[in-house]
Amino acid sequence: MALLEVLKFPDKRLRCISEPISEITDEIRTLAANLCDVMYDEPGIGLAAPQVGEAIRLIVIDTEWRNSEEGEITSKNPLILLNPEIVESDGTIVWNEGCLSVPDFESEVTRAARVKLVATDLDDHPIEIDAEELQAVCFQHEIDHLDGVLFIDHISRLKRGLYVKRRQKQLRREIEDSEAPLPV
Ligand SMILES: [Zn+2]
Repeated sequence: MALLEVLKFPDKRLRCISEPISEITDEIRTLAANLCDVMYDEPGIGLAAPQVGEAIRLIVIDTEWRNSEEGEITSKNPLILLNPEIVESDGTIVWNEGCLSVPDFESEVTRAARVKLVATDLDDHPIEIDAEELQAVCFQHEIDHLDGVLFIDHISRLKRGLYVKRRQKQLRREIEDSEAPLPV
C-alpha cells in the first residue's frame, strides 16, 4: 500500500485543533500503523495524525531507532499515544528542531526540559512517561501539532518571516516547473 502523504506548510489542515479519541476502532489502529510506516520511511522521530490530514489526537514517536550499516532502520520501538497530554513540566531546554511538515528548515526552540506525559495506548491502557531531553522535546513538538501549532510558531517573528518568504518562493518555483512545457 502507498504511504500516506505528509502535509506541508502552509497547508491549512496543519492548523486544525484535533479531536480527542473516544473509541479505539480498527480505523484508528490502521492509522497508527500507517503513521509509523511514514515516520520510519521519511525518516523522522515523531509524527502526528493531523500531519496526514486526520484531525484526531494520535501521535507516534520513536526517538531510539538506529540505522544498520546498509541504512535500514533497525530496533523499531514506536510509542503510539492516544489523547496525549502533558500534565507536568519544568526547566527549559533549547533544541534544534525540524519537522516533516516544514521542509528545508531547522531552528532552535526553547521548550520545557522535563515533562510528565499521560496518554492511552491502542489497548486503552493508561500510559505515564517522565521524559527529558530529546523525548521531552519530541512530546511537546508532536502534541503542538494536535493543537494546530508548528515549531516555527515558537521562533522569532523575523526568523519565521524569512522562512515563510523562502517557502513561498520555493512553492512558486514548483508551480512554474510543473507548468513548464516538456523539452522536445
Ligand atoms: Zn512536526
